[in-house]
Amino acid sequence: MPAKKAADSAKAAVKKTAARGKGAAGEDAGKKDAVSRRAGAAPGKPESHTALVRRARRVNRELAEIYPYAHPELDFENPFQLVVATVLSAQTTDLRVNQTTPALFAKYPTPEDLAAADPEEVEEILRPTGFFRAKTKSVMGLSKALVEEFGGEVPGRLEDLVKLPGVGRKTAFVVLGNAFGRPGITVDTHFQRLVRRWRWTEATEPDKIEAAVGALFPKSDWTMLSHHVIFHGRRICHARKPACGACPIAPLCPAYGEGETDPEKAKKLLKYEKGGFPGQRLNPPQSYLDAGGRPAPPLGAG
Ligand code: SF4
Repeated sequence: MPAKKAADSAKAAVKKTAARGKGAAGEDAGKKDAVSRRAGAAPGKPESHTALVRRARRVNRELAEIYPYAHPELDFENPFQLVVATVLSAQTTDLRVNQTTPALFAKYPTPEDLAAADPEEVEEILRPTGFFRAKTKSVMGLSKALVEEFGGEVPGRLEDLVKLPGVGRKTAFVVLGNAFGRPGITVDTHFQRLVRRWRWTEATEPDKIEAAVGALFPKSDWTMLSHHVIFHGRRICHARKPACGACPIAPLCPAYGEGETDPEKAKKLLKYEKGGFPGQRLNPPQSYLDAGGRPAPPLGAG
C-alpha cells in the first residue's frame, strides 16, 4: 500500500474509533475494571490467582442455576454406547449422532456384534454422520479391542481407555465422567472458546487448558462444570455471534460485547430450549423435559 494511502486509512480507523463515542477501548477498560472489581482486584491491576479462582467458581455456580438440567447431549444406555457415540461425534453434531445410533445399536447391541459386523452395512448406517468409512473402521476397531483386550467391557480407567483405537483424552473423559462417575474435564470446541473468553486461561492446547482449568476447581466439580460450559456455549455464547445481551453471566464476563448486546436481538440468537427449539437428544433426561426442553426428532422426521 502506498505510504499516503496507508496513512489515510490509519487516520480513518482512528476517526472511526473516536466516533464510537467513548469508544470500544474506553468501554473495554471500564468492563475490565468492572470484572476486576467483582473479582476483588484493584481497577487496572491484573487479576490475582485467588480472584480468578473465586470468579471462575462463581461463573460455574451461576451456570448451574441457569442449566440445572445440564447433561451429556449424546443418547446412551451403557458405556459401550457412549464410547461409540462419542467417537462418532467428531466433525458432526450430537443431534446427528443421536439420530443415527438407534439403528446402529438395534442391529449391533454389543462390542462382539459390532466387531463381527459387515463393514459395508455399518458404513451404510453411519453415512449421515459424515466421514463414515473412517468412523466405521474406528468403531469396529474399538469393538474388536474391547472384545480381545477387555473381555467385551469398556474399561473404567483413563490409561486403558486412551489405548483404544480412536479414543483420545476428550472421549475418555466423556466416558469416565458420564458412564463411570469419575471426574473429568471435557475440552471440546465450546469449552476451549468459552474459557478463553472468560480469561480462565491463555492456553490453546486442549491438554494445557484441561490442566489450567482443572486447577481452578475441586475435582468433584469437573464433570458438571464441563456440561455447564458446553451448554452455555451451545445455547448462548456461540462461536460467531454470542448473545451477550441475553446472557445471565454477562456481569462476570470480560468478553461481554464480543457479540450482540441489544437484548431483543440477542434473544433471537438463543438456541435449543433457551430459544424454544428441540434439543439434541432424542431421549433427554426427565429434568430437561421438566424445564421445558423438548426431545430432538428422529432421523428423517420433519
Ligand atoms: S457475555 Fe457474551 S461473551 Fe460473555 S459469556 Fe455471555 S454471551 Fe459469552
